[in-house]
Amino acid sequence: MYDILIIGAGAAGMTAALNALRNNKTVLVIEKETIGGQIASSPKVENLPSIKEISGVDFSSQLYDQIEALGCEFDFDEVKSIEKIDEGHFKIISEYNEYEAKSVIIASGVKHRHLNAINHDLLDGRGISYCAVCDGAFYKDEIVSVIGDANTALQYALLLANTSLKVYLCCLFDKLFADKILINRVIKNPRIEITYNISLLEYLKDDNNKLKGLRFEDTKTKKEIIFDCKGCFVAIGQIPDNEKFSNLVDLEKGFIKTNELCETKTKGLYAIGDCRVKTLRQVSTAVADGAIAAFYAINYVDSL
Ligand SMILES: Cc1cc2nc3c(=O)[nH]c(=O)nc-3n(C[C@H](O)[C@H](O)[C@H](O)COP(=O)(O)OP(=O)(O)OC[C@H]3O[C@@H](n4cnc5c(N)ncnc54)[C@H](O)[C@@H]3O)c2cc1C
Repeated sequence: MYDILIIGAGAAGMTAALNALRNNKTVLVIEKETIGGQIASSPKVENLPSIKEISGVDFSSQLYDQIEALGCEFDFDEVKSIEKIDEGHFKIISEYNEYEAKSVIIASGVKHRHLNAINHDLLDGRGISYCAVCDGAFYKDEIVSVIGDANTALQYALLLANTSLKVYLCCLFDKLFADKILINRVIKNPRIEITYNISLLEYLKDDNNKLKGLRFEDTKTKKEIIFDCKGCFVAIGQIPDNEKFSNLVDLEKGFIKTNELCETKTKGLYAIGDCRVKTLRQVSTAVADGAIAAFYAINYVDSL
């Protein structure tokens, strides 16, 4: 049985592992997709104390190396449910396995929000992407679009403008909701064309069932607008995915309710990072949660 089992290898989960391992606890981290979680898809992180600039991939792999060196165990699998058998005894059921742990930390983050326009299901992964860092290189010297109006969308547009011929930045409202510094960079970039007040109707497909363009409606004039593009990067926010834990935690709009100590309503079960109810979702608050939950999970395990 592990002392602490952590669900999710994002910034929050790996920081919790770091703190638990440094206190001689046995730790298993289960990750269903990518080491690093969301931040691994960020081209440039500039708001971490003492680090002027780092790519999300470098940040994630350095954190991974740090905890692996301390003896952290990893499994690539998707956790499907958690049961509490007794005090200090949780059963964790994943797609391929069952695990036992004295304490569990949920660090499941959030997943990408989709746009349910015509042809979404057909073209998702065939021109529609949610990660410019991962897929941007496929569209070198091509025309691409970014849908969204906040920090992630603007970061994607700037990154894509380095390699793509042109970037359409498509916004539902009449302004951008990002940091001033990013807005200034985007507005000055000659390869980025911003269009406001448009709502996506259809992902247009070619004869090979690949994306060839986007059909929008202008929300003011009701006229249709078509953008030709081979790639479309959707950055319209994220949604939580915590229903599977609802037997042991309370949810608010899908996010897990905790107190300031990251404790859920079930003793020995903690929730950290973007998956929990909080006001600011970013790396610094995720890693803060990781440190807090590890501290209280260690105390819980020691008290058994
Ligand atoms: C493109 C982009 C750029 C960003 N840039 C910045 C930035 O510059 N600065 C900043 O501070 N923040 C930034 N953020 C926000 C920041 O990345 C997040 O707030 C933070 O990384 C959240 O970390 P987390 O560990 O809580 O969640 P996540 O990073 O979402 O990690 C959760 C992990 O859990 C895994 N998981 C989920 N469910 C299960 C399951 N059932 N079983 C197993 N594994 C599971 C997921 O696959 C994922 O890897 C950015 C986000 C994005 C998307």
